[in-house]
Amino acid sequence: MDLFIPEVAYINPQALKHPLGNEAYQYLKSLGVPIIESNRVSIDTDSPVKNYVKAKKTILLTVSKQKKLQQCKPSADYQFALSSSCPGHCEYCYLQTTQGEKPYMRLFVNIEEILENIQEYIDGNKPNITTFEAASITDPVGLDHITRALEKCITYFGESSHGRLRLVTKFDHVDPYLKLPHNGHTTFRFTINTQWVIKNFEHHTSSAHERVEGAKKIAHANYPLGFIIAPIMLYDHWEKDYKDLLEELSLALKDYEKPIGFELIQHRFTSKAKDLILQRFPNTKLNLDEESRKLKWGPYGQFKYVYPKEKSDYMRDYLTGLIKDLFPNGRIEYFT
Ligand code: SF4
Repeated sequence: MDLFIPEVAYINPQALKHPLGNEAYQYLKSLGVPIIESNRVSIDTDSPVKNYVKAKKTILLTVSKQKKLQQCKPSADYQFALSSSCPGHCEYCYLQTTQGEKPYMRLFVNIEEILENIQEYIDGNKPNITTFEAASITDPVGLDHITRALEKCITYFGESSHGRLRLVTKFDHVDPYLKLPHNGHTTFRFTINTQWVIKNFEHHTSSAHERVEGAKKIAHANYPLGFIIAPIMLYDHWEKDYKDLLEELSLALKDYEKPIGFELIQHRFTSKAKDLILQRFPNTKLNLDEESRKLKWGPYGQFKYVYPKEKSDYMRDYLTGLIKDLFPNGRIEYFT
């Protein structure tokens, strides 16, 4: 799919003190993107839908001041961010509830300081290996053509003796990463889903086929590889669709011999998320019917609605069976 071009870019003057900030500024200027030198992003329309759409076309180039990194179990030891939010408009996105009414994208350009901070965590944990997740509050690939911070990061971890990087994306713009000296220290994961789910709920992200092609390139570049299948949804022809998807993927990866991790996550929602989704996507086809779901207590102190046990057991067994049949080197990391 085409690279995301913002409609407007704000630049925190501090960002211009960093090489990546200047390069991003020149890049945006060459594209004719209107640039406002200010740290205050203004998105004030007369409706939540318009606020959301406008925010998803607005970026702020800025610096990250985060020193204390949060833990990120089970994916990694810690998480950090090169950006926040993303150009995708996934109706169910869990960030809907955490990024407020105006989820514009912040891109952090002080990569030297971000990596210095990471190095302190790595050093403090030696001789153990420390792993870092880069995709907890963003899709790092979807925005990286603007700052190229992820490229720097992968190269840095490639040289790291005790640091390892993990990321996940729904975008297929992976060409800049194929020749990087990653040294097997970055695990590249793709979130995949059936084309029916993507078409209906994951607007402005790469298609199922494009993600498979992206994964094939990353496999050829010899990265450790993994997939998150999420959110898994039950609908009329879901079994056939997930089977077709996994068959296409297994064919694309037939020459890949390293272990392939699979994380399986069924569709869930909280009451708070449902309210926000209905405001932003009033005509959504998402199944948000509490009656047909089961309540489950979540780790973030909220109840969430998941599929009833019988259905989720069937879903888990069906997909687990397909993965076992199609991927001799596949490892199911969890189903939730
Ligand atoms: Fe949210 Fe990921 Fe979709 Fe972006 S791509 S909207 S982060 S679910």
